[in-house]
This record gives sequence, C-alpha cells and structure tokens, in this order.
Amino acid sequence: MSFTLFADTRLALARDSLAGLSVGDALGAQFFVPGRRPAELAVGSLPPSPWPWTDDTEMACSVVAALAEGGRIDRDALALAFAERCEPYRGYGPGAVRILRLIRTGTPWPVAAASAFDGQGSCGNGAAMRVGPLGAFFADSTGRAAAQARASAEVTHAHPEGIAGAVAVAVAAALATRARLDGYRPAPDRLLAGVAAAVDPATEVHRGVRRAAGLLGRSLPEAVDALGNGSRVTAQDTVAFTCWVAATHLDDYPAAIRTCVQAGGDVDTTAAIVGAVVAAHAGVGTPGGVPTEWLDAREPLPDWVG
Ligand SMILES: [Mg+2]
Repeated sequence: MSFTLFADTRLALARDSLAGLSVGDALGAQFFVPGRRPAELAVGSLPPSPWPWTDDTEMACSVVAALAEGGRIDRDALALAFAERCEPYRGYGPGAVRILRLIRTGTPWPVAAASAFDGQGSCGNGAAMRVGPLGAFFADSTGRAAAQARASAEVTHAHPEGIAGAVAVAVAAALATRARLDGYRPAPDRLLAGVAAAVDPATEVHRGVRRAAGLLGRSLPEAVDALGNGSRVTAQDTVAFTCWVAATHLDDYPAAIRTCVQAGGDVDTTAAIVGAVVAAHAGVGTPGGVPTEWLDAREPLPDWVG
C-alpha cells in the first residue's frame, strides 16, 4: 500500500520518535551514575530529574532539524551540523570527536569518515543511535527510509556495518510508524523480517537481525548472550539486540526502556534506539507511549531543533 504523508505529519511523527529517543537516552544515561540500580526502575522508582541527554540526542536533533529544513538529508550540511553542534562532554566517543573535529576544521566528510580506524571507517553504533526519527519521517517508503538513513550514516560511518546499523534502525522505525498509521501492531517476527530484508545481507548486522527473530519469546539473558547489549559500542553488538527489544515491546515504551536498562551495556544508546522505534509506534503521552512524567524529567531539547 502506498499513501501520501504531508510535511507537517512527517515532522510530527519524527518528533514523537525523537521524544522517545531522547527520553531513552537521558534515562539510560542515569544508570551510569554510581549508586543507580536497574532494580529501582523495575519497581517504578525513577531517578531524580533532570536527566541530561547525551550525544545520541544531540546528533538526532541535527537529523530532525535537517529534515524539518529541507525534507531530505544533504550530507554536506548534515556533516557540518554534527561537527558544529558537537559538545564533547555529552559523551561522544574519542573516534567521533576526532572525525567531527576534522570536519569542523575543513576536512571533507568523505575523507574524515574514511580516516577512522586505520582507514576502515567506523562501525560504531553512532549512525544507528541518531536515525530512528528519520525512519518515522519516511514512514511511507522503507526504500526511501533506507536510502536516507545510508546518507545520514555515511558522513561519519564509512564502514558497511555502521551503515547497515543505521539502515536497520530507520527501517524498523518506518515500519513501526506505518503500522501506527494503519492502526495495528505488527507481529514481532514480521517486523524483524521487514528489517532484515532492507539490510545488506553481507553484513553481521543483517545476520544479527535474523538471529534476533529466532530469539523472540526467549529470555533477556539469552538475547543478550546471542546478540550483545552494545557493550562493544559497535553496530554489530547493538542493533540486532535493539531490534529484538523493540519488536518484543513495540506497544509498551516503559517496558522497552526497562529492558534496555536491565540488559546493561551501552544503555543510553540501546535505550535511545529502542525508544525511537517504540515511540514512533506508541506515541507520546498515550497508553503504552512515552510517559509524560518521563518526558518532563528529561532535560529540554536544544532550542535550535524547533
Ligand atoms: Mg550517549
């Protein structure tokens, strides 16, 4: 089925996803504060606010601002926006800080991105962590979501796994959003099959998403054992796990985020990715959506995101 999404609808859908991303990021980051225990969240106790957001949110805001401005990704402009808005204290990895510094000082992004990791390019989870709202924006075309996700990834992640991670998350968000518009909850295995179909079959991310489908209904420790939890901060170690969580808890944002916190690892990023996909489907302030109380506890988003 094809349909038309008007510009303001696209943006509203992307903003719901961004709300889910940023709340997941900010709440997830709270569990790196000494003394915070996942068990407290499991019984409904929230950390004291405000919850500052991290690099995941800062970069996702640049993606959403770019889509609001031009309706598509202009790679040169996006690379510069990432570089100019980067506040290193927000938890950027050293590799990301280096690439963004090169871009800020005039190195073309293809050169800067290719220079990472001795010329292999980054396969980090950074392109996946910021892309969910883009998938929501292109909910009417998974092909367009995948192509635009690739464009948004390439400016910092030249490695095929880094790009595949972004494509997987964007397509997951696009499919989740489309199901919201059509008024149904996709079966977890169908959602993961749709994601796998869009991702380069030569990648570990693709194999991971297929593995995730085989683990639906299994326990969290089993899923973490087989898929990772982002502790290696690579796309391969992060994206399939987040797809498993999102597919499992697509209509229950709090449960999805609690699952990421319980899994440990790169919690701000896994919760950002999962939060973006689940909020794209479940919404904000709705039953199963991002709780208003959580949204109010998150540090306000930067003014420039509008
Ligand atoms: Mg972060």
